Amino acid sequence: MGGGLGGVAVAVALRLVGWEVVVFERAGCFGEVGAGIGVMPNALRALEVLGVADDVRRIGTPRGAARVVDPGGRALVRVGAGVAGRVVAVHRADLHRVLRAALPESCLVTGVEVTSPDSLDGDLVVVADGVRSRLREALFPGVTGPVYAGVTAWRSVTEARFPSDLAISQTVGAGSEFGVLPLGDGRVCWYAATAAPEGGSAEDELAAAREVVGEWHAPIPSLLDSTPAGSVLRHDIYELGTPLPSYVSGRVALLGDAAHAMTPFLGQGACMAFEDAVVLADACARFPTVGAALEAYDRVRRPRTQAVARASRVAGRFGFRLRNPVAVAARDLAMRAVPGWAAEKGAERFTSWRPPALSLDR
Ligand SMILES: Cc1cc2nc3c(=O)[nH]c(=O)nc-3n(C[C@H](O)[C@H](O)[C@H](O)COP(=O)(O)OP(=O)(O)OC[C@H]3O[C@@H](n4cnc5c(N)ncnc54)[C@H](O)[C@@H]3O)c2cc1C
Repeated sequence: MGGGLGGVAVAVALRLVGWEVVVFERAGCFGEVGAGIGVMPNALRALEVLGVADDVRRIGTPRGAARVVDPGGRALVRVGAGVAGRVVAVHRADLHRVLRAALPESCLVTGVEVTSPDSLDGDLVVVADGVRSRLREALFPGVTGPVYAGVTAWRSVTEARFPSDLAISQTVGAGSEFGVLPLGDGRVCWYAATAAPEGGSAEDELAAAREVVGEWHAPIPSLLDSTPAGSVLRHDIYELGTPLPSYVSGRVALLGDAAHAMTPFLGQGACMAFEDAVVLADACARFPTVGAALEAYDRVRRPRTQAVARASRVAGRFGFRLRNPVAVAARDLAMRAVPGWAAEKGAERFTSWRPPALSLDR
């Protein structure tokens, strides 16, 4: 249950191994917010298994290189055609549509809020109800829920089209960061993140984002200028306070943010949900009982996703969240000292993941 990117992806995966599935979504219609997402090479491999990677590449923009720069536009890390060259920027709504298109309409049920797994029939219940998962709380009552990560983020998409040679980029400043995610049609998804107290809001969120990054290097000011003011989303960033002791309980499996909500500083939250989907379906195809399949799913997914969540937290803490000028200068110096090949190697720590190949005839 839960029809976000994770819920829809696992439905596609389970159907591929011959299961009948129904996705119950609380909202009145399926969809995603108007913002971009970086699909990392590991997730693209998972989407390949789901049979939708080509569609994702078509609507997104795979670039030959990505840049990490300072607010003046000077390179901090040079990453070439390796890992970074295989990241695809895509609009979340388009990605969701591509996944939905792989499912028959009859699988998708909206306007149903699931309050307990017991209310659902079936051999397996996949809980994919997001960071504020109600079912996670019910299954693991003593575990700390989402905690504020100390960062708020603005996200939107430009109306104007930008030159096709615009690279995926990340600009790291003192306490703030800006990301550029160019789409296949020339529009550009962007995000700005800054350390801030929880619960802030502004009447004009575009102006609020501009106050933080409006003076940064080109094309950041023109990306903001070509963004409709009312389209800017602002979300405080939350992650799970305590890693879960298990991702399974009886015939229930937790997946995506419900299992391992993490900060977005490595761009891996939804990517992990796609991996979860493929691994869960593979286990269901491979093991004779749901119990054994879920045990395998938990064994494989928990260590990996919790390691990525930890690394993402550290990346934020020692990355753009540093504010002290001496610490910022030391960070920039250290980043510039890392050769491109070493940066690639570091990124591969998580992006080199390979999915199991789903098969119906195991
Ligand atoms: C600012 C920001 C930037 C990000 N950037 C990236 C990125 O570049 N790359 C990346 O991989 N990840 C990124 N992420 C993380 C990513 O957005 C999430 O990890 C991903 O969307 C989680 O998907 P999900 O399906 O698990 O949960 P959700 O997307 O939260 O979906 C949960 C769904 O369940 C439904 N639901 C909730 N409760 C119920 C219920 N009781 N009954 C039925 N339905 C219910 C909800 O309506 C929702 O549709 C980012 C996150 C943020 C906040």
